[in-house]
Amino acid sequence: QKKELQKADGENLRSPICCIMGHVDTGKTKLLDCIRGTNVQEGEAGGITQQIGATYFPAENLRDRSRELKADVKLKVPGLLVIDTPGHESFTNLRSRGSGLCDIAILVVDIMHGLEPQTIESLNLLRMRNTEFIVALNKVDRLYGWNTCRNAPITKAMKQQSQDVQNEFKRRLIQVTTQFKEQGLNTEVYYDNKEIGKTINIVPTSAVSGEGIPDLLLLLAQWSPKTMVEKLTYSNVVQCTVLEVKGLEGYGTTIDVVLVNGVLHVGDQIVVCGMQGPIVTTIRVLLTPHPMKELRVKGACLHHKEIKGAQSIKIAAQSLEHAIAGTGLYVVGPNDDLEVVKESAMEDMNSVMSRTDKSGEGVYVQASTLGSLEALLEFLKTPAVNIPVSGIGIGPVHKKDVVWASAMLNKKKEYATILAFDVNVKAEARELADEKGVKIFIADIIYHLFDQFKAYIGTLKEEKKKEAADEAVFPCVLKIMPNCVFNKKDPIILGVDVLEGIAKVGTPICIPQKEFIDIGQIASIENNHKPVNFAKKGSTVAIKIIGSNPDEQQKMFVRHFEIEDELVSHLSRRSIDKLKENYRDKLSNEEWRLVVKLKNLFKIL
Ligand code: GDP
Repeated sequence: QKKELQKADGENLRSPICCIMGHVDTGKTKLLDCIRGTNVQEGEAGGITQQIGATYFPAENLRDRSRELKADVKLKVPGLLVIDTPGHESFTNLRSRGSGLCDIAILVVDIMHGLEPQTIESLNLLRMRNTEFIVALNKVDRLYGWNTCRNAPITKAMKQQSQDVQNEFKRRLIQVTTQFKEQGLNTEVYYDNKEIGKTINIVPTSAVSGEGIPDLLLLLAQWSPKTMVEKLTYSNVVQCTVLEVKGLEGYGTTIDVVLVNGVLHVGDQIVVCGMQGPIVTTIRVLLTPHPMKELRVKGACLHHKEIKGAQSIKIAAQSLEHAIAGTGLYVVGPNDDLEVVKESAMEDMNSVMSRTDKSGEGVYVQASTLGSLEALLEFLKTPAVNIPVSGIGIGPVHKKDVVWASAMLNKKKEYATILAFDVNVKAEARELADEKGVKIFIADIIYHLFDQFKAYIGTLKEEKKKEAADEAVFPCVLKIMPNCVFNKKDPIILGVDVLEGIAKVGTPICIPQKEFIDIGQIASIENNHKPVNFAKKGSTVAIKIIGSNPDEQQKMFVRHFEIEDELVSHLSRRSIDKLKENYRDKLSNEEWRLVVKLKNLFKIL
């Protein structure tokens, strides 16, 4: 390793790996198309090659396209490898040996919208991974009155704009930098940035007409090796990350990988992280897309004996079905101890596993890759969210995941929930979930999952409150009015004065003077011939009392109690607890004093 560090002189650099992130519809796909130069004539794409899940830009291409900027930089990196699935956290939050796979990122912000929720999610991922990034402030052409200057450097394009457009641009730029400031980040439009490294560069762009694209390309290529010579020094030690696991006709399950450093050969023994433990297998085939456009029909691939990083490749080998996207691939060298390599391969997975809640109580979380799972766990842990996690899974939601989640039904109903991020739910799993009462929420934006879960907790609370409402008993003392016994039993109908507290529909009523005999519960209340739900101290109302137990005869006026007996709410320890839990602020001090008085009367401890 010492030897490698000594070589960190900028002479032997590999291509930096770049990803594009940001909120939906900010123009990530369009921007990638634009820098790919889909507008460049067929077959003359300046050496740009399509790779597996990535696009490769040779340095000359970057230089050619930023020539107008006259930066005259000597680009030392051979090129730039841009990951093709913009915006997809599952791919952009890839890790490689503990740090981010991506060396640099482009964070796209729509100038008309400023920072949006997913922008902030992306920001947090980038910070978590310590990944440097450039902000592309996109869609400048949408500023009202914008004068198109196709593919021009941004300062040149800006000079062609009216004062109004320039002012509007400045106003929006300030808004965006302020929003970044609120996220704790200093940003500055790159041509005014005096503290490169400390202050993050903003490049205004249009992915439609190409303004600012030369600037963006130049910044990417020029700036990265300066700050990252060591990181970008090519090393022979294989550093490789699994992007995606998928079937390919004729090859079985294959993995798409990004090879950052080192060389992979057909026949290499490799270890990848699997859901059920490390997978040890041998590389059977190494594939890249065919570079010649005409031949790029479906499945037309180039076979390689060996491939050197940085590149993205498809690998076919046996037993890859359970491989986990977003984890590292390890090659077993002649002097390596297989057991040690297996342990290393599982490290990422284990570190994520260890983030689940130790109490064993919490929701079940399912995501498409290890990286996105980790991002989701991180998010759920933030104080503002704070949702415990008891179990995790990667890939589609299967029956077994539902079974796991259903274990929470007996502990905490709200946690019998699967938060599924960017994955499918198998039909059998859905069926079982419905049958058992396990909730599954699906989203491809992290904060949407949180919103859904929060709403669900809300409805559960409401339900609980309704249930509790039946158990909470409001305190009241009622006096029967003379000549106002309208019916003696089944049901008892009386005119009463509410002497104290609140008479409420549903309240169980007893006669304390007669050894607390229960005469039933208030079924309805009428005030001035109008039905009401409750009557407060001082009111005179008619109440209907029905027997609480349908199997027993209701106690009867005169036979069991008389006109001078007071009617009182029958409280219990539990009813008082429920009252406190749900209605603490609904009762006045005087009413709470009545609760205490009745509590003593009933000798409740
Ligand atoms: P993504 O969801 O971030 O990948 O966004 P897309 O690349 O799909 O772009 C979303 C929409 O914005 C599409 O209709 C694009 O044509 C449009 N768009 C993207 N970039 C620009 C731009 O720079 N200027 C304008 N006017 N429209 C853009």
